[in-house]
Amino acid sequence: MTDPRITTDCIFCKIARGEIPAKKVYEDGEVIAFPDIRPQAPVHLLIIPKVHIATLYDATAAHQPALGKMLAVAGKLAREAGAGDGFRTIINNGRVGHQEVYHVHMHVLGGPEPLGPMLQRSFSARK
Ligand code: AMP
Ligand code: ZN
Repeated sequence: MTDPRITTDCIFCKIARGEIPAKKVYEDGEVIAFPDIRPQAPVHLLIIPKVHIATLYDATAAHQPALGKMLAVAGKLAREAGAGDGFRTIINNGRVGHQEVYHVHMHVLGGPEPLGPMLQRSFSARK
């Protein structure tokens, strides 16, 4: 299995470096945003830090500016993409979080219609 800490093959690092094309809707010194290639809602953007962080388990205080910026631009980008009446952010982490790409990314999902419930219940509550 590929070590997610090795960044040479990371698809989002390649997008950040401009080696793989993406329709960037936003870029600054810390983050980039682009549409998800397989949208799961009418508005579906990804906001990624330019620096490689495999998962939030790997985040440190040094990553605060990039991680903070991801949140700080989400509302503006959601509104500009047509989701001005609410949106959802999701960051999947690791196996249990169903993370597919091991470079931290925040999904920005929006309507216009309300999204489905946050999670489908996939466990049995203990009595
Ligand atoms: P996850 O790691 O499960 O949070 O999701 C990874 C997301 O990245 C999926 O929604 C993919 O559709 C998306 N994705 C993978 N490759 C690309 C790409 N080259 N451009 C845009 N989105 C991508
Ligand atoms: Zn990366």
